[in-house]
Amino acid sequence: MLGYYKIITYGCQMNVHESEKIAGLLKAMGYEDCPAEGSADVIVFNTCCIRDTAERRALGNIGVVKAEKKRNPSLILAVVGCMPQQDGAAENIRQRYPYVDIILGTRNISRLPEEINKIISSRESKRRGDKRYRAVDTRLPDEYLSIDENTPTLRTSYPNAWINIIYGCNNFCTYCIVPYVRGREISRSMPNVLDEVRRAVDMGYKEITLLGQNVNSYGNDMPGGEVNFAKLLHEIDKIEGKFRVRFMTSHPKDLTEEVMDEMAASNKICSNLHLPIQSGSDKVLKDMNRRYDRERYLYLVSALRSRMPDIGLTTDIMVGFPTETEEDFLCTLDIVERVRFSNAFTFIYSPRKGTPAAQMEQIPYAVKQERISRLIKAQNRITKELSDGYTGKTYEVLCEDTAPKFEGMVCGRTDSGRLVTFDGGPSDIGKFINVKITASRSASLFGSREDI
Ligand code: SF4
Repeated sequence: MLGYYKIITYGCQMNVHESEKIAGLLKAMGYEDCPAEGSADVIVFNTCCIRDTAERRALGNIGVVKAEKKRNPSLILAVVGCMPQQDGAAENIRQRYPYVDIILGTRNISRLPEEINKIISSRESKRRGDKRYRAVDTRLPDEYLSIDENTPTLRTSYPNAWINIIYGCNNFCTYCIVPYVRGREISRSMPNVLDEVRRAVDMGYKEITLLGQNVNSYGNDMPGGEVNFAKLLHEIDKIEGKFRVRFMTSHPKDLTEEVMDEMAASNKICSNLHLPIQSGSDKVLKDMNRRYDRERYLYLVSALRSRMPDIGLTTDIMVGFPTETEEDFLCTLDIVERVRFSNAFTFIYSPRKGTPAAQMEQIPYAVKQERISRLIKAQNRITKELSDGYTGKTYEVLCEDTAPKFEGMVCGRTDSGRLVTFDGGPSDIGKFINVKITASRSASLFGSREDI
């Protein structure tokens, strides 16, 4: 064994999955996951820059490890992912945190082993008087993707397997930094994705979550126009075995009739969709460059519900976009009442340097806060009302884990994506269990199993 590694992950599921690849790379080198109380030989910060808070938290923690590096000068520190990919950020990290050894952008992560080896050998030569080696690589050419088919993955989310189908984003929503830090869309080949799904199912994974910034664009970058997301879902559905399929994230402008048909026709693809609306105001949606309007969004909701009446719909809603007036915000509240989402991830807009919205005149924080508290109140009421509708009924639940706050209980999700806590133990993880819902608390459901 070469030593221990620690990976600290910030941000979205994409980053969680990329950390599984980083773990795979380090394990292949001979490193092992660091025990909770142990000290690591390699620490990797896999960062996010979507929101200011994630960035500040990462920078704060990178500052904290300075003391650890002082205690153990042979510790290798790496900062990778979205944060150093921003304009000027890698240089800023290099100067402000001179003890960081490796800085890699979103498309250079698989160079980590090579850079670790260079650091180790440079320490030998430093003893001979050479300058200390530090690695910085944030190249982002369109066609270049260093996380490739050969990057090993050390999965950590059994019974769920994350599988990336498309990288990058072409949409340039005016508030979002992703296209600048993750580059243009690159779809993986369909045979490679299908192969990975088959392998995961053969290994016993019971849920496959397909990942991409916009999964509905899958195949758009491929020549010939023969590959698209609906076709991929169709082929995945044909794979033998009992397993579920979810996917995220979908863009309302790109969700097609064919994808909805595939979802409705399949027993494997869950009746569950995360469809970010962001705002209920046509004016704000236009200013955000979302390229759909209320009418289109409401049409999609009715088209989905006419095919799958029990579909669990969740969304993202941004409050306080620079051009949002009280009237615009009321349009958002109105659409929340009309759609009745099972759950909504609500957040306050914060400017991201380098995006068009950051140049616009900002609205006061207190106004944003007041609006989000009204929104959360409305959504919590709807979530609770919908949760109450589950009680007394029985659902098939895929057990995912032991319930952290309840002894002798486990938790898992219904096909519609609702979290259910029920009686059970670690041996239930990965099993499909029929659970009768006996109580609800906000978004969480509680139940008792019917298989005993
Ligand atoms: S679709 Fe818009 S919000 Fe989503 S990653 Fe792309 S630019 Fe960002």
